[in-house]
Amino acid sequence: MNAAGLRWVITAGPTREFIDPVRFLSNPSSGRMGFALAQAAAAAGGETVLVAGPVELSTPPGVRRIDAVSAREMCAACEGVVFDGERDRTTVVIAAAAVADWRPAECAARKLKKREMSPVLRLVRNPDILKTLALRREREGYPKLHLVGFAAETGAVLDEARRKCREKALDMIVANDVSTPGFGFAARRNCVTLVYPGGETVEFPPAAKAVLARKIVRAAAELCG
Ligand code: C5P
Repeated sequence: MNAAGLRWVITAGPTREFIDPVRFLSNPSSGRMGFALAQAAAAAGGETVLVAGPVELSTPPGVRRIDAVSAREMCAACEGVVFDGERDRTTVVIAAAAVADWRPAECAARKLKKREMSPVLRLVRNPDILKTLALRREREGYPKLHLVGFAAETGAVLDEARRKCREKALDMIVANDVSTPGFGFAARRNCVTLVYPGGETVEFPPAAKAVLARKIVRAAAELCG
């Protein structure tokens, strides 16, 4: 399908999971891959919504940005855009965000004193955004919703990506090997392979994230027939 007729929803960056108002759990995701994807999607002509975690990047032209801090906020923002009652709308979600899998069981309302803090932090699972979207797609009947994930791995990259593609009911997953210094997480370049639900793969040569973003957007648009 021509990318111009699509709606894109792209997640980017890390999430923050607060312990108290000044302390949080997070990760070093820069948001560059997701922002590059949003730029490529908007340039291809589709309506583009970027759901961004806390990052130091400016919004690409033509992109509507929704800021989210925690995984739960990011999930709610995505659900709000995708499940708007327009079931005939072709929408592609590309989840490039590095969402924290866990959050502290409690967040204190004020800054905790050192002596008030336990050396053991109790955590609870965050929602999986892609799984939440896949479940609602099924339950509420959104057949034109296509889900694309990312799998950043350091070993058995393709096997892990195939497993995640199945488990999260994805239409495509972008596998990237983050074991090579200078590629992947927080870097400007990336090394990716597309993995499909049947297990087929398409490998791209290592390149700048902006170059890969255009290729990923083109492949994602093809999922829509
Ligand atoms: O399971 P894992 O975190 O490795 O999967 C990565 C993929 O799942 C990414 O596309 C990421 O954006 C997405 N994800 C999500 N919600 C989470 C964790 C990961 O949508 N809570």
